Amino acid sequence: MTAEDQAAALAHIAAAEAKAAEIEGLEGVAARPVNSVGIIGAGTMGGGIAMNFLNVGLPVTIVEREQAALDRGLKVIRANYERSAARGKLTAEQVEARMALLTPSLSYDSLGEADLIIEAIFENMALKKEIFAKLDGIAKPGAVLASNTSYLDVDEIASATSRPADVLGMHFFSPANVMKLLEVVRGAKTAPDVLRTAMDVGVKIGKIGVVSGVCPGFIGNRMLSRRQEAANALLLEGAMPADVDRAMTDFGFPMGPFQMSDLAGLDIGWSKETSTGETLRDRLCEMDRRGQKTGAGFYDYDADRKRSVSPIVEQMIRDYVAEKGGQPKELTQAEILERLTAPMVEEGREILAEGIAQRPGDIDAVWVNGYGWPRGSGGVMYWAGVR
Ligand code: NAD
Repeated sequence: MTAEDQAAALAHIAAAEAKAAEIEGLEGVAARPVNSVGIIGAGTMGGGIAMNFLNVGLPVTIVEREQAALDRGLKVIRANYERSAARGKLTAEQVEARMALLTPSLSYDSLGEADLIIEAIFENMALKKEIFAKLDGIAKPGAVLASNTSYLDVDEIASATSRPADVLGMHFFSPANVMKLLEVVRGAKTAPDVLRTAMDVGVKIGKIGVVSGVCPGFIGNRMLSRRQEAANALLLEGAMPADVDRAMTDFGFPMGPFQMSDLAGLDIGWSKETSTGETLRDRLCEMDRRGQKTGAGFYDYDADRKRSVSPIVEQMIRDYVAEKGGQPKELTQAEILERLTAPMVEEGREILAEGIAQRPGDIDAVWVNGYGWPRGSGGVMYWAGVR
């Protein structure tokens, strides 16, 4: 890529990020005021989401189902702030001021005055519907009700309330206090001013908001699923996790698909009881190689989480491929890159055709800010010539 091409790509992504805030049909629509926020779930996401609001001086009430989880969540938030203070980014007074804006609670009733409520509990439809039905009876009229779901149908969640016009998705990325992307998921019945409110709140907390329609995984995770399928298929053809990951990191990603799986935890959605041992993921989890947190996944990790290739996993993959009748062959890095990106671009085209994303640049903004697509190539669709 020439310096000129790169400058053009950088200009494109900057323009695309700004343009993402423009939503057809929302001209002249005013946002609802948001002066206080409620969050349900103080886990990985709930805690990080809360920090965004505390950072800009908005009071947050965070609700958990049990004291231990609430204590754990608060401890993580405080530890994050204290780390920033140790690095000289915050004063001790600022840490205390932010913590003072946070009200921990075990009662949903304490969310009655919140202008915006964001649910970040387990990824389970029945549970989420139960929570939204409860919120319907507690939230004040006009409160915006958001779910941080990664994949689930926001319209179905909204149907658990008598006010689906007030419901939408606000999909943050992990770590939620750091990652720039906010996918704002517009349900079939979401009111224009509710969408406007979520987008404006995103600006207030320093996020890049991108609107997505409802579909499994929305824009980003829907495309990510295609890349993951391709990555798994490559293993059956003789590539090793490190070969696949290297194709992505050489391209400019901070990490590849298997490194990302190890970081997130291989056991998301896996359980011992239902594991069939059919997939490599099942087999790794059954060996308690559940990712970085257990010191092993597709790779081995030392006490400092430094990664190294695992000869055990490589042998396991060779055995798996033989068992499945795969024909291992040499794959070049260029072939691997093509195999990983082509399905993403194809899915991106589908997402545009279905109107899930407003424009190709919105998809670029999602991938650059949520998944580490290298900014210098302008984003996935721009890079593929879809503009
Ligand atoms: P988590 O397991 O870390 O946290 C969930 C928290 O919700 C737990 O602390 C749990 O005690 C609490 N909880 C469960 N039921 C509750 C209830 N009825 N009332 C109050 N609290 C309850 O999970 P997470 O990773 O933070 O994920 C939360 C949501 O965010 C999921 O929908 C997930 O798909 C989505 N999400 C996760 C990520 C990620 O990378 N982890 C990224 C984006 C979105």
